[in-house]
Amino acid sequence: MTDELNTSTIEEGAPLDKLKGISVYPGTAFGLCQIFSSGDLEVPQFSIEKSATRGEIQRLRAAINTVDKQLAGLADSFDDDMPPEAEAFIEVHRTILRDRVLIEDTIEIIKEKLINAEWALSIRLEKTRREFEAIDDDYIRERVNDFAYVILRVQRVLTGRRTEASLLNAEGIDAKYILVAESLDPADVLQLRERNGLEIVGIVLEEGSRTSHVAILARSLEIPTLVGVENARELLQNEQPILIDADNNVLELNPTPARCRDARARMRELADRCKRLRKLKMLDAVTLDGHTINLHANIALPEDATWVRRSGADGVGLFRTEFLYLNREDLPSEAEQYDAYTKVIRSMKGDPVIIRTADLGGDKMLPDEIMVKLNENYAEESNPALGLRGLRFSFNYPEIFVTQLRAILRAANSGNVSILLPMVTSPEDVEKVRGYIEQAKAELDEEGVRHTDKIRIGGMIEIPSAIIMLRDLIPVLDFFSLGTNDLIQYTLAVDRTNASVSTYYDERHPSVLRLIAKCIRRCTQAGKKVSVCGEMAARKELLPFFIGLGCKDLSMTWTQIPDIKERILQTDLAKAEQFANSVLRRRSIKAIHASFDEFEKTFNKKGTAQFK
Ligand code: PEP
Ligand code: MG
Repeated sequence: MTDELNTSTIEEGAPLDKLKGISVYPGTAFGLCQIFSSGDLEVPQFSIEKSATRGEIQRLRAAINTVDKQLAGLADSFDDDMPPEAEAFIEVHRTILRDRVLIEDTIEIIKEKLINAEWALSIRLEKTRREFEAIDDDYIRERVNDFAYVILRVQRVLTGRRTEASLLNAEGIDAKYILVAESLDPADVLQLRERNGLEIVGIVLEEGSRTSHVAILARSLEIPTLVGVENARELLQNEQPILIDADNNVLELNPTPARCRDARARMRELADRCKRLRKLKMLDAVTLDGHTINLHANIALPEDATWVRRSGADGVGLFRTEFLYLNREDLPSEAEQYDAYTKVIRSMKGDPVIIRTADLGGDKMLPDEIMVKLNENYAEESNPALGLRGLRFSFNYPEIFVTQLRAILRAANSGNVSILLPMVTSPEDVEKVRGYIEQAKAELDEEGVRHTDKIRIGGMIEIPSAIIMLRDLIPVLDFFSLGTNDLIQYTLAVDRTNASVSTYYDERHPSVLRLIAKCIRRCTQAGKKVSVCGEMAARKELLPFFIGLGCKDLSMTWTQIPDIKERILQTDLAKAEQFANSVLRRRSIKAIHASFDEFEKTFNKKGTAQFK
């Protein structure tokens, strides 16, 4: 667990009405607290006579069969709305259950130690735990919990104890409620959800991480969830009304009536959004006059790829790989990166995946301990946004860069992958990168490791000088992606992270719009693909400007895709072209803002109703 997770406490001096956690699925949930203790089972431990071993083994097999039937029955009960991930979880648990090594080892333990089946299962689980602890990959290590959940289920059947999920059902709870637990078996969540009259609107876990299966499941079920909420079970009581504000990583213990009303309204909004998302997912993003716009998703972690598919995105337009390097004490190995990239590539099933090389530095700095190990003279930069960031960082630490390139080239063998370079300013930058790519390929060849031979290389256009240099960059790069977040920061000399100058951070400043227009027009004229992947891409009111200039590819956080898709479906490209040209003729900031507002008014409520 990260340090961040361990700080799940109440702000000092504040009344005990808020607990901090880490959001794994955003949104608001208001409901009754239901404390759930799936892990609390006192496992009976006793010795048996040698003559009783056959009977014990039969008990074990019968319990395994019962659990298998329970899980199969659960999967059969899923309605069409259940995401495919849910069935996949059940399948994983059934596979573990049928694992011959697991069964045979447990039988061996019963025979050898002459103990009851429940106890033998606990001993076998400990062995699995030790094996997983040695694995150098958080995601895979986390999977030991699936073994634990499956074994606990078998133990419950053996001891005649019902699952907590079925007990809740027996009590006939009929309300919206928030599950509070130490940790949760995903199958329990699914079992509860399938109960009539039981509505899980939120999940609060004391343990857990973003990569736990219950977190992944919560995302696919779209349930606002907080993990790492320390002492939640101790501080809460059953039936107590509580409020999850997952957007702000907070659990409210005593929400005021106004907060509750607000939460209910937001929950209704979320439900509407989900309904809309499901409808829009099936449609292509085509303008009223028949032009298709490709919508891609920005991701930071491999787990996000599951959400990307659910949003109906056409691929990953920006994988911000630097997040693989942050919040940890060491650098990610080549193997770890290879696994992360492969996971994303596989889940995109042939759709494009654009992997940006690590944009470290600036506000995404490696921890000091690592920096000191890399460079004994390391000192904090006084102006990090203009310091060793993006490609400059990579060039300064070529070993880190080549390790990443090797991992990308290997993973790219199994999909539709391109490399994107952060903070490009000149053709020399690109030449240098190509040199490192050749080095990585030569090393892999020498080691006999499979890798892709050809990979498309694109450049982030996020520094004004790159736009000035476009004529020289166009021939040496395969595609371009406008990083408007930084383009605004560097064009207007406004720190994107400094709230005191945020009013100067104006994405509709004429200089920004003119630079963007120049970039999109130059690239499209030269036949090179250009996308927008900064936050501007997800702003509905800016859409006509981008597509009016000829941009056909946008990349954004997956949650924003339905709204943008909806707007594309309502937009006439010919009108958007006229609009973009007219905006570029405006000279003052005020006039430009007014033009956008005016155009926005043309999208009336009637226009949106058809997709709801
Ligand atoms: C950008 O600058 O617009 C961008 C997409 O990159 P990041 O936000 O990661 O700097
Ligand atoms: Mg950027």
